[in-house]
Amino acid sequence: MNTKELIEIEDNYFINTFTRQPLVLDHGEGVKVTDIDGNEYIDMFAGIAVNALGHNHPKLVKAIQDQAEKLIHISSIYYNEPALIYAKKLVELTSFDRIFYANSGAEANEGAIKLAVKYTGKSEVISTVESFHGRTVMTLAATGHEHYHEPFKSILPKGFINVPYNDIEAIKEAITENTAAIIVEPIQGEGGVNVPDIGYLKEIEKICHEKDIVFIVDEVQTGFGRCGTLFAHELFDVKPDIMTMAKGIGGGVPMGGILATEKVASAFVPGDHGTTFGGGPLVCAAANAVLDTIEEDNLLDNVNEVGNYFIEELKKLDKEIISDVRGKGLMVGLELTKPGAEYVDKLREKGFLINCTADKVLRFVPPLIITKEDIDEFVKALDEIL
Ligand SMILES: *Cc1c(COP(=O)(O)O)cnc(C)c1O
Repeated sequence: MNTKELIEIEDNYFINTFTRQPLVLDHGEGVKVTDIDGNEYIDMFAGIAVNALGHNHPKLVKAIQDQAEKLIHISSIYYNEPALIYAKKLVELTSFDRIFYANSGAEANEGAIKLAVKYTGKSEVISTVESFHGRTVMTLAATGHEHYHEPFKSILPKGFINVPYNDIEAIKEAITENTAAIIVEPIQGEGGVNVPDIGYLKEIEKICHEKDIVFIVDEVQTGFGRCGTLFAHELFDVKPDIMTMAKGIGGGVPMGGILATEKVASAFVPGDHGTTFGGGPLVCAAANAVLDTIEEDNLLDNVNEVGNYFIEELKKLDKEIISDVRGKGLMVGLELTKPGAEYVDKLREKGFLINCTADKVLRFVPPLIITKEDIDEFVKALDEIL
């Protein structure tokens, strides 16, 4: 079937939830993906910051192949080695003590909020405007987009308060004696790659400490090296009580997780939470391969070096239409003075996949293995179309 015929199947048979790009992708290699017509693209989107190691990475593919031949799924009722090894490794690399495996970012955030509520016995959660925490009903309430809330207002849980991002006074005003948790992204992703002031997270940490409120960082997009440190909250020198993860964790296999301190984690007892698929051997084998490769191949160094270079090169573009360049590591946003959708199309036609978020922000979240040469090619194309 050709591209047109395949896309017609989507039109006729899928529930209509996505505005898709007219591309049927077939295979990938490194930072490149190829569609069914043989057109090649440099993938500056990486499946929304998921394909941390790019496409067809030999270590990741081998880990999945080897594990698939042994066990794919067994249920959380039994132990499996990849999940155990991974838990120990990740906990030792962070300031947290315990892990819970989930399957997606939204599910990780659901669990994190349940844990905070159980730990505090309280019922209010503060989150930020322009945040994104997921599409389940509770995470939708935490997500600070009125427009996403609108059709579901009647079923959204009470107790969720959205305050402006990077505004510590707004958080102080929103706190009540019923506040269970504050949840923030260390750098907002969907909201437009918004980097907060250096003291913002530190202030939140302090307030949470004083009032015994649970400090949750949503690192679903920023985690696993994306911003140049293993987790982005490290950039702001804070130790949250809970961190949620997904996207890059498994390099493309669907996986999520919650890390928590001993104190907060101890609030859950068997029966409080669970999952059928979470922490299965297949995804955990993939996650081990991703984490090992980040270390063995010094990918954090690459993220910092190439990321800084990328931002410098973007800043050199002298265009009236650019109103801001911002980001950390390989999570980069270029804000325009007008809607960005047409530039996504133009770049695709030139062989580059990107996305536009928050209407005017071109977002670049390429695989962590990307090189300066790839960046040069991309910036040249961007320069031409702008
Ligand atoms: C993508 C994202 C989510 C939701 O993750 P899903 O896996 O789509 O449920 C939550 N939080 C942040 C910060 C995200 O970027």
